[in-house]
Amino acid sequence: MPAPSPYRGDFPILERRIQGYPLAYLDNAATTQKPRAVINALSSYYERHNANVHRGVHTLAEEASALYEEARATLARFLGAPSPRQIIFTRGTTDALNLVAAGWARPRLKPGDEILVTRMEHHSNLVPWQMAARERGATLRFAGITAEGTLDRESFASQLSGRTRIVAISHVSNVLGTINPARELIALAHAAGARVVLDAAQSAGHLRLDVRDLDCDFLALSGHKMYGPTGIGVLYGKADCLEEMQPVQGGGGMIEWVEEQEAAWAPIPARFEAGTPNIAGAHALAAAAEYLRPRLEPAQQWEAGLTAYALERLAAVPALQLYGPRDPARRAGVFSFNLPGLHPHDVAEVLDGYGLALRAGHHCCQVLMRSLGVTATLRASLALYSDSGELDRLAEGLSTARKALSA
Ligand code: PMP
Repeated sequence: MPAPSPYRGDFPILERRIQGYPLAYLDNAATTQKPRAVINALSSYYERHNANVHRGVHTLAEEASALYEEARATLARFLGAPSPRQIIFTRGTTDALNLVAAGWARPRLKPGDEILVTRMEHHSNLVPWQMAARERGATLRFAGITAEGTLDRESFASQLSGRTRIVAISHVSNVLGTINPARELIALAHAAGARVVLDAAQSAGHLRLDVRDLDCDFLALSGHKMYGPTGIGVLYGKADCLEEMQPVQGGGGMIEWVEEQEAAWAPIPARFEAGTPNIAGAHALAAAAEYLRPRLEPAQQWEAGLTAYALERLAAVPALQLYGPRDPARRAGVFSFNLPGLHPHDVAEVLDGYGLALRAGHHCCQVLMRSLGVTATLRASLALYSDSGELDRLAEGLSTARKALSA
């Protein structure tokens, strides 16, 4: 595989050297780095256009409002959403999922209803459902995973019933890298009469998403995992679902009128965006979406090639235990593994000495960790600027760490 990545030069931070080595940033499932286009969008917003939205009539206020609404339209196009009305800006995936759980699910759930999740969910797509279920007397059910770390379709299908109101699933696992067959699972859930919430935090920057094709009822993503800034994300919803959803925050910008004892809500999506929004963040997230749009297919191919190469290199590290599918076609570039007898944090520290940035821990997936029989893993995760040289350095670093720490 050729190295370096054709996209590397777009990311200024990758010029840094860490501990004398060029930065090999392999923590992209936690957050991605930002291309110059996104950094420029943030600074140009503050240098030229900064004002509050929807309130002023002066030129800057109109410019800021226009940029904010253009960002919404850009994200609608990015996701294939029928209308920008169906794009709600949130703080990120966690915020988006909590909004659905509190504003849409809680008012509709009744005792005995069921919510189906999977054993590979991030805490963000689990704890809000636990909270909603506990409050309403509903039951949370779990679809299992296979020994290889893919979703057990039989377990999923067998737990769907007339009682299932909501199915909440991740598109790509942030631990196993597994790509779940979202379209197929959504169709199964719909056939059982359930609504589906798709956690696209790990897919949005790596796979082309089309909400109409997927037919999900809600979709959540985080800007910072798709080369955009932190503090901004999106909740997409089908129009009827959003019309049914209750706001969970009251305040400026979300009302039609206010009287002493009551208020009426603004139309969607403003109803769900109380207070001054992250205007600069939305504008820069749109820049990230524009950066990605023409690059998604070639970058996906680049990452798929690297994924196959990473599987080969990791398999060759003595004793390394890899979790998640071995078939590169069924997974994204997220690799969790352990070196038996060594604590992942110690290994990550040794790797940092070679300029390799990896994550060690439970990755906010404690239920999955229990299924895997571990408390923590090391995780390497790729982005479009990753390259084979970094994976070579990782494989060598792991062998060195094993020798150094076992001594
Ligand atoms: N879901 C998945 C699958 C994730 O990987 C993450 C982030 N690790 C989240 C949800 C939460 O995203 P955020 O912290 O940006 O809200």
